Parts: sequence; structure tokens; C-alpha cells
Amino acid sequence: MIYLTGAGPGDVELLTVKALKAIEKADVIIYDRLANPKILDKGKEGVKLIYVGKEDGRHTLPQSEINQVIYDSSKKYENVVRLKGGDPFVFGRGGEEAIFLKEKGMEFEIIPGITSAISVPASFGIPVTHRGVSPSFRVVTGHEDPTKKESLVDWESFKTDETIVFLMGFHKLEKIVKKLIEVGKSKDYPCCVISKGTTKEGKCVVGDLSNIVSKSKGLETPALIVVGKVVDLNSLIF
Ligand code: SAH
Repeated sequence: MIYLTGAGPGDVELLTVKALKAIEKADVIIYDRLANPKILDKGKEGVKLIYVGKEDGRHTLPQSEINQVIYDSSKKYENVVRLKGGDPFVFGRGGEEAIFLKEKGMEFEIIPGITSAISVPASFGIPVTHRGVSPSFRVVTGHEDPTKKESLVDWESFKTDETIVFLMGFHKLEKIVKKLIEVGKSKDYPCCVISKGTTKEGKCVVGDLSNIVSKSKGLETPALIVVGKVVDLNSLIF
């Protein structure tokens, strides 16, 4: 069996019971950079570990080769865990792996994980929705260049008070902030950057669109950006 498994946001204890069971019986674990290495210690003795890490969208191995590694492993071993940070279907390209396996006629199971998009803000007292403050939230790729003319991201619609969580956007923070101001958000609109959330090294820098770039300088990745009035709740809850 192949398990497309979510590793959760960082804290090993935020692994699901189902994921842990799959990891404990795995003969091989194919893992990414974002999956906490301590999770690998939960594997049985002699488990084969294969790193196919990606860094902020830069791929160590092209996706087609990762697919092939999963496929080849499943021919060699009985239980294969494909371990991905957070949830495998939130910017994890898990969907592509699932389609590939389906096309190959392979049997697989999807084990959802706790996505960083919600849990990392929560760990710093920032609820992604809050009655009377934010009626909805969006999880957006920060990987796409906001200055690009044709974009799948609907920047114009970000004028509302919806919470926006940008993943993979830390390196583009300056451009993202500029774009949000350009589409009509005020310079004092609340936002924060959270680095290494749910781990001991976790840091949350709160600011607004005018100062978040300078305030968050030097933070390490993985990091996500939250833009929204819910960020202010951090001081009430955390
Ligand atoms: N599938 C993952 C997301 C993969 S995209 C999930 O569901 O969480 C990778 C991005 O997730 C990173 O660039 C960063 O923006 C975010 N991220 C993942 N773990 C994080 C953490 N512990 N703290 C802050 N951001 C994190």
C-alpha cells in the first residue's frame, strides 16, 4: 500500500494517529524538507528513508522523478509512506502524485494532515476566522510573482476583510505588500509573518503593511504571511 501522508505543521505531536500508524509500519518513507525529521524516528528499525526535498518551490527532484521514486518503491516494498509537510493536498503537489498513481493503476490511501495555513496562525493566537472580524479565509500561493500581468491569483478581490494566508511567499513579501496596497488596502492594515510555527524555534512578528518587510527581516523559513484584522487578536489571545 502507498500512503500519501500529511506530516502536520512541525510539532511531531500534531501528526494524526492514522499517519503515525502508517509510519510505524512503513518499509520506506519518501519525505520532504518540511516534514519534521523527528517523525522519521517513529519508523521501524531498518526503514528505508528517501529524501526528495523541495525548498520554497525550488525542486531538488522534478515532480516526475518523485512520482517515479514512489512507483519504484511500491514495486520493491510492501508499505510505502510518502510524507509531506502539513496536508498533502495544500500546495504539496499531492494531487499530482495521486493522479499519477491512479493512472498507473496503483492502490493508495490519502492521509490528510494538519495544514500550516490554519494551525501555524492558531499557535500564535490568530484564528483565521472570527465572528464580526473576518467571515472567511483564503490560502494563497505567495510563489507567484504579483507583478506578473497574467496571474491566477485574483489580487483585485483582496480589498475585502477576508483573512489571507500566503504560503511560500516570504521571499516575495515586499512585492506582495506593494500589490496589496496597490489594490486598495491601507498601509496600516494588520499583518504578520510566522516562521517555523508549532516548533520551539517558532517566531511571530506582528506589524502592518507599511512596516512588516523591515520588521520581519532575518526570519527563517518556512514562514507564512497572514494579512487580516484577525492578526490583532494575537495580543488578546496569545
Ligand atoms: N502542504 C503544506 C504547505 C506546503 S507549501 C501545508 O499544508 O502546510 C510550503 C509553505 O508552507 C512554506 O513556504 C510556508 O509558507 C508554509 N509552512 C509550512 N510549515 C510551516 C511552519 N511550520 N511555519 C510557517 N510556515 C510554514
